[in-house]
Amino acid sequence: MTIHFPFQNTYTALPPSFFARVEPTPVASPRLIKLNRPLAIQLGLDPDLLDSPEGAEILAGKRVPVGADPIAMAYAGHQFGHFVPQLGDGRAILLGEVIDADGVRRDIQLKGSGPTPFSRRGDGRAALGPVLREYVVSEAMAALGIPTTRSLAAVITGENVMREIPLPGAVLTRVASSHIRVGTFQYFAARGDTEGVRRLADHVIARHYPQVAEFDRPYRALLEAVLERQADLVARWLLVGFIHGVMNTDNSSISGETIDYGPCAFMDHYDPAKVFSSIDEQGRYAYANQPRIALWNLTRLAECLLPLLADDKDEAIEEAQAALGGFAERFASAYQAGLQKKIGLFTTRDGDEALVQDLLDAMAKNQADFTLTFRRLSDAVLGLKGDTEVRQLFAEPAGYDEWAARWRQRTSEEPQDPAERHAAMRSVNPAFIPRNHRVEAVIEAAVNRDDFAPFEELLAVLANPYEDQPAFAGYADPPEPHQRVLQTFCGT
Ligand code: AMP
Ligand code: MG
Repeated sequence: MTIHFPFQNTYTALPPSFFARVEPTPVASPRLIKLNRPLAIQLGLDPDLLDSPEGAEILAGKRVPVGADPIAMAYAGHQFGHFVPQLGDGRAILLGEVIDADGVRRDIQLKGSGPTPFSRRGDGRAALGPVLREYVVSEAMAALGIPTTRSLAAVITGENVMREIPLPGAVLTRVASSHIRVGTFQYFAARGDTEGVRRLADHVIARHYPQVAEFDRPYRALLEAVLERQADLVARWLLVGFIHGVMNTDNSSISGETIDYGPCAFMDHYDPAKVFSSIDEQGRYAYANQPRIALWNLTRLAECLLPLLADDKDEAIEEAQAALGGFAERFASAYQAGLQKKIGLFTTRDGDEALVQDLLDAMAKNQADFTLTFRRLSDAVLGLKGDTEVRQLFAEPAGYDEWAARWRQRTSEEPQDPAERHAAMRSVNPAFIPRNHRVEAVIEAAVNRDDFAPFEELLAVLANPYEDQPAFAGYADPPEPHQRVLQTFCGT
């Protein structure tokens, strides 16, 4: 039996400087621990075939599927503000592209599949913990409706990887609408390879933004289109309390998907300055800094595109600045519109911005849980029991009462009845997010006890984040003080 992937590759048709051909390194004894069956079907792959010994070998990189043309992609990137001219896929190998059931081209990539010419000092491997973390959080993001790369499978390699201590090795199969990053453009721009930048831009337009091909100034329109998707994406992050953790330009996707789940985390209590990542000592990638960083990354993209924007340098800079100038408004309107929905408003009026901001300020002052405050607020629409439950989240409940009176006044001026408002709010305010202490518990059970039942249960709960799931109500709870996760780690 040979498993056939219906690959239709386009990236490998780009010039050889774009990638290195490389095969995954075989591993000892692969064991499939998770297969995302609905996603497999969506990709036109047979889940029963993947869920076989041969499937596990393919998903571990031990066997290359028929028709694959595996490559490691070249890219550069600013890491914490410092430019590195060559990063590239140091531990990931793109097997190829398939067209999914909706006609969308998707990359299928193995992450942790062995060294590549871009590995530098790294071993090309991934440990089980970070693989499970990426699996859980990326699938949770997808269920929340936020653009993201997906997880098709996780395989244990049967080999240890050496980190501070030996840890079980694993391979994640990642699916993305592409793996092209801001850093991919930087790779060519840094080499003065304007033709490479142009080839890449044309590839991106054809693949992700075909509508801009018709524009008078397609490259300016491309920059604006990427900017809009990034602005919308970061707004979505903030609206669910997500902190990416490593918004380096190489982790900033051109398609507007969330990519590279390293030390990412969802905040429990609301704190705009929140940082979880152990390596982010300056708070560069703190929760509330994310829009600013997205714009910083887009500015790096704009610099790469300058030679394409106009022949005259000053004119090109003006074009870039005009495009980048649109970010603040795009982000603010996506974020504000999302907040309006979170507090159940159907219309917009003067004073609404101050109303939500005052709630956020009260939440910050009172250490109120971000997710639960909005979820319980949705229930508060229906009656006073709900109010009691929201109040309990505030260190000083009076901080909520004063705000709630204004909020009730404002909602009473809209015609919608409470049931309608309640339903609308619940559809945007999740009950379940991948809370850090739950993710850590899943990893601990898998790594130390080879027990994947907690992983399966957490995934099942997070697949329906907007449903009340009474049997799993505890998953909505914030951590007890002793369960609190204070730091997260890249684990690379
Ligand atoms: P990341 O922090 O995961 O976004 O990775 C940044 C860069 O380091 C990318 O070029 C990765 O491919 C590379 N890298 C991360 N971990 C490893 C590893 N274990 N072996 C080789 N390269 C790695
Ligand atoms: Mg990365």
